Parts: sequence; C-alpha cells; structure tokens
Amino acid sequence: MQAEVLSVGTELLLGQTVNTDTTIVAKALSALGIDLLYAAVVGDNVGRLEKAVYDALDRSDILITTGGLGPTGDDLTKETVAAAAGKKLVLHEQSYQHLLDYFANGGMTENQMKQAMLPEGCTALKNDNGTAPGCAFRTDKGKIVIMLPGPPREMKNIWNKYVAPMLAAKQDEVLVSRYCRVVNIGESALEDRLYDLLKNSTNPTVAPYAGGGETMLRVTAKAKTKEEAYAMTIPVVQAIADECGDDLYAVDQDCMEQVVVELLHELGMTVCTCESMTGGLIAGRITNIPGASDVFECGLVTYSNRIKHKLAGVAVKTLDEHTAVSLETAAEMAQGALALSGASVAVSITGVAGPDDTPEGEVGTVFVGLAGPLGVRSAKVDMLRSRDRAYNRSLATVKALDALRLYLLEIKRSR
Ligand code: ATP
Repeated sequence: MQAEVLSVGTELLLGQTVNTDTTIVAKALSALGIDLLYAAVVGDNVGRLEKAVYDALDRSDILITTGGLGPTGDDLTKETVAAAAGKKLVLHEQSYQHLLDYFANGGMTENQMKQAMLPEGCTALKNDNGTAPGCAFRTDKGKIVIMLPGPPREMKNIWNKYVAPMLAAKQDEVLVSRYCRVVNIGESALEDRLYDLLKNSTNPTVAPYAGGGETMLRVTAKAKTKEEAYAMTIPVVQAIADECGDDLYAVDQDCMEQVVVELLHELGMTVCTCESMTGGLIAGRITNIPGASDVFECGLVTYSNRIKHKLAGVAVKTLDEHTAVSLETAAEMAQGALALSGASVAVSITGVAGPDDTPEGEVGTVFVGLAGPLGVRSAKVDMLRSRDRAYNRSLATVKALDALRLYLLEIKRSR
C-alpha cells in the first residue's frame, strides 16, 4: 500500500508551526512497512485543499490528513475531504456525547457541534486528549481516508490507539530498520568502502545519512514477520561492522554519549570533563543520558588561562611556552581534572572554535586530552575546515566523546 500525508493549516505554511505531525506519521508508516510517497502541506483554503485531496485520492491508496478538524470557520478538512470523496457529513451520536461529557462543566459553544459531524459510514476515532475526533473510511474506489486532528499529542494518541492497529491488520509485510552509527569515516568514504553492499542492496536496503559529525547507515528489511526481517539485517550489519571496526560506535543505540555512559557503567568507572572551547557541551551531552549520575563525577569549564591554571593545575610555563591550545595543555587539563575530581577517568578539550583565527592557532585547531588507568594522553583532533563556531564546537564535542569511548574500550579489552 502506498500512502500520502496532507497536513492542513496556514500556520504551517507561514513557518509558525513546525510540521511534526508529518514526521510522526512518516516514521509510523515506515515502521508498518507502508511506503509514504508524498507529503504535502496546504493552507486553510477550500480550493487548494480540494485539489490536493483529488490528486491524493487519484495516485495513493491511503490518504492521511492532519489538522483542520476543529470547531472554527477555518477548520475545513472534514467538509472538503468528505465532499471530494462523495460523502455526506452526518451527526455521530457517540462523538456528540463525548463533546457533551467534555463540556459537562459548561463552555460548549454552538460551533463545537461541528466536530461531531462525520462522513457517513465512517469509523470514528475517539480523541482522548481533545474534542475533535478523527475518522476513517473507504471511498467508493476503495481508497482509505484517515483524518486526524492537528495537535500532535491528540494525533499521536489516536494513531497509536486506532490507526496503527487498523493499518497493521491490512499489511502482510513489516519493515524493520536498524541504525549503524559511524564516526571518523565521512559519508562518501563510507560509500566507497561499502560500495558492493550499497550497490546490491534491495532487501535489506542500506542507506547512508551524514550529520552532526557522524554518518549513519540505515539497514531496512521487509518480511512477513518482525523476527524474519530482523534476521535478514544481521549479516548486513555484520558486514558493516567488519568494514568499520571501532569506527562503528553503535548499532541500534541513539548516540555516542549513550555508548560512553554504558561503557562507564560496565567498567564501574566515573568520568570528569575539563572543557575549554566546548564550554560544557561534553558534560551536557553525558548528563543528558538517564543513569549518568552513577558515572559522571563533575564537569569543569576552564575557559580562561587563569582558571586552567588555578582549577585544572595547568602549569603557567606550559601555557606560556605552548599556549592554551596545545597538546601539552590538553594533557595537563585532563591530568589536573582527574586529580581534582577523584574520577577514574578525565577527558579534556581545548581549541579554537572560530570564526576567526587566534594567536593560539587557526580556527578548527583542537586538542583532546585523556587521563586515567592507561596514563595521560593527548592528541590533535581531525576537524573539518569550517569557520562556523557552533559547528566546530559541536564536532569537537563528538570527537572528545569518541576519544573517551576509545580509551574506555581499550581499558575494557585490557581487563
Ligand atoms: P483543534 O481542535 O485544536 O482546532 P485541529 O484538528 O483543527 O484541532 P488545527 O486547528 O489545524 O487542528 O491545529 C491546531 C494546532 O495543532 C495548531 O495550532 C498547531 O499548534 C498544532 N498543529 C496543527 N497541525 C500540525 C502539524 N502538522 N504539526 C505540528 N503541529 C500541528
């Protein structure tokens, strides 16, 4: 089955509201193995909405609309879609009762009743979080039409409760997607190295995406059951792991910091961060992970040279002779933070975020330090050439987390 999503609302076209409904529906359809071929946005305008509905009913098996089911004059979806599908709107008694219950303490206006008017013969989809019910029906030509309210929490609830099970029952195949997250190998280099795998991928398919300093490979298999589809992904994920080695930092996990926190848990270790150019971003990402309190000792932001010396114990001589942006300073920051915090491992970072070069170095010159059971180390980080301060800080954060991850992996293997 092929689906199309139509999000209705002028606020979406004005950029006032981010169209998260489409993202939610797109992900949910993909999980069900239903291909989403078109996703459009239309303003609150009958003519354009009508045209979009005709197009959708012509080319897709399933039309899903979001928004425009409310009581006000600009909520036109139901009227327009029902008319285009040749259905009359009739009062739906249970939905009317739901409205009466909802407004039992008063406040119901006459136009609220409009929300209980649904296409004749449809299945009403009760809205537990609001007043506008959704609805689903088949057109005379066998197309499935599903209309959902705009507010995401209302839409999502109806989707999970009614729409997903209804569509799943019509599907004889499911999709399983697995996510392989890779650092230190760019998208095109990865494509080169996995050329045969990518070229020949039909089921499972393998699709690369780059962003946030890493590359993600999505491996998707289609089969009769989830178990069967999952089994089909195993050799492909293994082939990616064989090619990428330790640069494949996670499979089916969300992010680098999650992997770091899990490794720290596994090793029974704690970490301290000592940051200059990232100003606390590394600590922020680690503490974003539930369970971080067991493994995160503290985060130091040693931005000025005075504090690098006073708090992290970096020698004045080191700062004078090598500057704050150097291998030596990164190493001493990590060493000093380890001593101060009593954590089992410390990671440090210092560099030039930009946009301008500084006397300490060119934009993108970054050093990471580590201190712990394997001794004190520091290294120059391989950054991309960019003068974008936010991007450089974010990429440096990923690189520092990755250096910490590799240090912890080495400890794990040495045990
Ligand atoms: P209501 O009964 O709340 O009026 P509705 O179905 O008529 O529901 P709309 O009036 O179109 O929905 O939108 C109500 C609110 O829902 C919007 O102001 C916006 O905050 C949110 N919303 C609508 N469409 C979307 C969307 N596609 N993505 C995210 N949020 C949305």
